Amino acid sequence: MTKAIVIDKGDAGQEVFVQEVSLPALEEGEVLVDVAYSTLNYKDALALTGASPVVRSFPMVPGIDFSGIVAESRDPAYAVGDRVVLNGWSVGEKYWGGLAGQAKVKGDWLVPLPEALSLRQAMVIGTAGYTAMLCVMALADDGITPESGEIVVTGASGGVGSVAVSLLAGRGYQVAAVTGRSNEAEYLTQLGASSIVERSELEGKARPLSKERWAGAVDVVGGEVLANVLSMISYGGSVAACGLAGSMGLPTSVAPFILRGVSLRGVDSVMCPLARRREAWRLLAEEVKPEVFEAIAREVAFEDVIAAAPDFLEGKVRGRIVVPVA
Ligand code: NDP
Repeated sequence: MTKAIVIDKGDAGQEVFVQEVSLPALEEGEVLVDVAYSTLNYKDALALTGASPVVRSFPMVPGIDFSGIVAESRDPAYAVGDRVVLNGWSVGEKYWGGLAGQAKVKGDWLVPLPEALSLRQAMVIGTAGYTAMLCVMALADDGITPESGEIVVTGASGGVGSVAVSLLAGRGYQVAAVTGRSNEAEYLTQLGASSIVERSELEGKARPLSKERWAGAVDVVGGEVLANVLSMISYGGSVAACGLAGSMGLPTSVAPFILRGVSLRGVDSVMCPLARRREAWRLLAEEVKPEVFEAIAREVAFEDVIAAAPDFLEGKVRGRIVVPVA
């Protein structure tokens, strides 16, 4: 038996509670992990609150990511005692996830934790930070260098945004941080932002093209904000879009693409192929600075996770929420 947060659906609707659960025996190719840390991501908040149909079978143990130590293995690639990290693969949506003392997952879903990272640091980064790295890699793939010009990051005080700002600044980019919370300007400057942009500047109906302002973007917001960003990307620029914190919609036109050669790069962390994940984690181990872990992390106790989830939907979370489980 192991403690777990459980989401279930009854006659009265969705219920979330802490319970002892038992996991079935391992099948060929599976690994049992003693979870050390999990986290709260935006998607976990959607699952825990039921705000969006993220959970695809009930009862469900949420938690789209975790770090931990292999307790038992039926995958030759992993041995008892190995340090591992997991992000996505529909864990916490379709398969029982990381907000539990133990997790039973396919060995193919795990990434060996780079030596330089502690189990806690891995989850301060978590899925949000790993996605931020995938976005930074996408911009680099598109040839956007620090010499290309300033990069804009939307939703900058959140999990993906905070890590993206610090990673880009660490690589030498000038970073414009977009936030709806002007009181977080100092935090964003500390992470490496070179300028702060009020979110309201990017709200409202986007024009097909506006004055060229940025060479690239990491967008977690979608909707009008993304449409406005696209209209302001300079010739040949690129936008890595990974989120919908503002809206699922995209009220734009083809103008930025056909008149300025702007690229819109979709970034998905859930089904991202293993080789790219390993590369992202290798780069994260090299590039996340020690002081960034301190600046962005807030711990929430396992028992307090359910109460903390609504903060995401109200845009109140700063940086990353890490949940000690062991
Ligand atoms: P957070 O809640 O930590 O950050 C989102 C930020 O967006 C907030 O901090 C806020 O920043 C801004 N924001 C919130 N609400 C609104 C709004 N209504 N309009 C405009 N801006 C808003 O979430 P995460 O960083 O964990 O995730 C961000 C997004 O990325 C989510 O949509 C999530 O689902 C997605 N995501 C996608 C992944 C993928 O694989 N594609 C993986 C991980 C995340 P501020 O106050 O500074 O403006």
